[in-house]
Amino acid sequence: MTETNYSSQQLIDMEHTFGAHNYHPLEVVISKAEGIWVEDPEGKRYIDMLSAYSAVNQGHRHPAIIKALKDQADVLTLTSRAFFNDKWPVFAKKLSEVTGKEMILPMNTGAEAVETAIKTMRKWGYRVKGVEDNQAEIIVFEENFHGRTTTIISFSTDPDAKKDYGPFTPGFKIVPYNDLEAVKKAVTKNTVGIMVEPIQGEAGVVVPSDGFLKGLREIADQNNILLAVDEVQTGFCRTGKLFAFQHEGIIPDIIIMGKALGGGVFPVSGVAADKKVLGVFEPGTHGSTFGGNPLGCAVAIAAIDVLLNENLADKSKELGQYFMEQLRAMNSDKIELVRGKGLLIGVVMKKSAGKARTYTTRLKEKGILCKETHDWIIRFAPPLVITKQDIDFAMNIIREVLG
Ligand SMILES: *Cc1c(COP(=O)(O)O)cnc(C)c1O
Repeated sequence: MTETNYSSQQLIDMEHTFGAHNYHPLEVVISKAEGIWVEDPEGKRYIDMLSAYSAVNQGHRHPAIIKALKDQADVLTLTSRAFFNDKWPVFAKKLSEVTGKEMILPMNTGAEAVETAIKTMRKWGYRVKGVEDNQAEIIVFEENFHGRTTTIISFSTDPDAKKDYGPFTPGFKIVPYNDLEAVKKAVTKNTVGIMVEPIQGEAGVVVPSDGFLKGLREIADQNNILLAVDEVQTGFCRTGKLFAFQHEGIIPDIIIMGKALGGGVFPVSGVAADKKVLGVFEPGTHGSTFGGNPLGCAVAIAAIDVLLNENLADKSKELGQYFMEQLRAMNSDKIELVRGKGLLIGVVMKKSAGKARTYTTRLKEKGILCKETHDWIIRFAPPLVITKQDIDFAMNIIREVLG
């Protein structure tokens, strides 16, 4: 038997035996994908309504991104930053242009970009703001999700993410999300940064009140604090703008990016900031072997081009509105509320309806893949290349299951 001939059940069993159990996947094996569609080894097709947690905004295997990957693989893949390569500068210039920031620091995963932002804020605090050694504080929010490193989970409020992983990194003040008064109270002379998700994706697509980010911008300005916005999940057109902070017309000091920056193909992440902020790094003080690798850079350049050329921000805005209207129009007695922005949508189920997992499992059986977050919220976040017709098709199934 060749490896391509395993059945879904065999593969699930094999993973269960040989893979660590740090995830609880829906019982579906994906062996092929194109656009919004994925397929299992038995040939059953599903619409992907998760997009790998918004890492596949451009759709699975977008031809322009796959071409960039293949072309680059034929000439150069990795140099490390011990040498220059001919793709990282081009990618940096492009990402600088789309973010409106002067400089980029490239990493690979979202968590690494978040770590980079934390280091940037601290280093800026000591070098520029003049905070006393080892006293820097960063304000973060309850129910945050910024990744899985030991430092990042040190300021998580999710017991599952945190338990048994201590001792924890100090230097973080956790305040309630969407509470500007709490942020003001948490500011001290040692505060160097505020780090925020413009919409809390993992918490269940929690959308703050209008004016929240603006308020954070003001607090940061008044107290000489950096504002870092984690756009790893909300960025790259997911919420109907290139970046979610643009809904409020603010300009953050640090933009943290990942996921869709790699076009669903390759892990590419990074932070963008102006020189007065990112300029604090000197050679040898931070880095990554794969950060800025030519293969990732070529993919990311193509991934950004697809978002811009196909106008995926506007598509996300229009289709997100349409999708949310359809979900609300079901008037389902199982649904408490539908919330979101663009094609980042959370359906909060009534507690009386039972666990969200029951519904994501039923949706899967009928050909729609999405994932519950917490026990009672279903997130719908399809690739942004989805069409109105696709949404109508999906809604027929969603109505059968959630209606
Ligand atoms: C996914 C995510 C991260 C972490 O990204 P990884 O690539 O999984 O390390 C950080 N912040 C947010 C908001 C995310 O959604």
